[in-house]
Amino acid sequence: MEEHIFQVGPIRPPSEANSLLLRVTENCPWNKCKFCMLYKNSQFHTRLVAEIIHDVDVMAEYRDRILTHFDGVNYNMGSLQNEYINLDTDAERMCYQMVFTWLTEGNRQAIFLQDANTMVLKAEWLAEIITHIRKRFPEIERITSYGRADSLSRITKENMKLLADAGLNRVHSGFESGSDRVLDLIQKGTTQEQEIIGGCNVRDAGIELSIYFMPGVGGKALAEENAIETAKVINLVNPDFVRLRTFVLRTGSLMEDLQKTGAYQVQTDMEKLLEIRNLIAHVDPTKASGMLKSDHIINLLQEIEGKFDTDIPNMLEYIDTFLALPEQQQKEYQLARRMGFPLDWRFLYRMNEADRKRVSDLAKNTVSKNEWEALLHRFTDRYI
Ligand code: SF4
Repeated sequence: MEEHIFQVGPIRPPSEANSLLLRVTENCPWNKCKFCMLYKNSQFHTRLVAEIIHDVDVMAEYRDRILTHFDGVNYNMGSLQNEYINLDTDAERMCYQMVFTWLTEGNRQAIFLQDANTMVLKAEWLAEIITHIRKRFPEIERITSYGRADSLSRITKENMKLLADAGLNRVHSGFESGSDRVLDLIQKGTTQEQEIIGGCNVRDAGIELSIYFMPGVGGKALAEENAIETAKVINLVNPDFVRLRTFVLRTGSLMEDLQKTGAYQVQTDMEKLLEIRNLIAHVDPTKASGMLKSDHIINLLQEIEGKFDTDIPNMLEYIDTFLALPEQQQKEYQLARRMGFPLDWRFLYRMNEADRKRVSDLAKNTVSKNEWEALLHRFTDRYI
């Protein structure tokens, strides 16, 4: 008997954590970025349109079955449990559970198309898949996907419009940097020109663009260039969202090999913050009106958020206030944050007394700058 299951890939952007996940392609077609360890041992595949349409149908079937146990206010957990137990296989139970979690705790209006670069798919195929999603899930308001700048720049205006008309609402793209020298260093396989052409291509079609920037990824030598050239791309493309993903040199990554050759010097945690400041200071509020988001635990100051056209002075002031703190206070917050303290530095006093004392003692007693960075790295290395 045929199993009623659908595939799910491993990765989605944090902002799509509550979206239903539909696997359209498998893994990454590029897979060479030196900082990235996500798909290193996996081969890229496109899936057949018929397979994906089958997955959409299975998801819709589970949604319909689950909703028969819902009276508009509550779920009948007894009858749900009964249906769940009586599914034929563990894989079916897992899929059922996923749709249930999406319906009850997720964003019922959003679907994310996996994996790393769905936009590499032939536009007609992708449009057919999106059209089918719209048909089976008319309640969906947001369909989003990852797309590399390289792919975005190759899609014709007509095809991008085809995707927009089918119902693609947002493209997430890891630009990482606007500097060609940095892109080359990290082996991103894209250029500033592709970012500009691809980014404008998305925006011109009426699709929202969400780009990711990695402060610190250029190392000490390219810190200034990384900020300035990225700001240039933001000014020219005017993305809807710019999301900060502070660079951390992952143990075992190809960036580590580069560091071992002496050709790459990692920035300190505070230098990366200065780079973020520099980036924001170079964005032109008369050209960029999108939102800067700091929606990842890897960023030191998660409160740096705002619209480029109205909030640049506030964002800079917020950073400057932190930079003006006594060094001991800065270090205490750095360490607390890297240990997982989720709040603004102004609320450090809310930490429990024992943790606060531990943080304070470590900040005071770790005098060597190298030891301090190594201590912070031990925590950040496990975040991503
Ligand atoms: S394109 Fe994305 S998923 Fe692929 S290697 Fe680069 S960062 Fe990783």
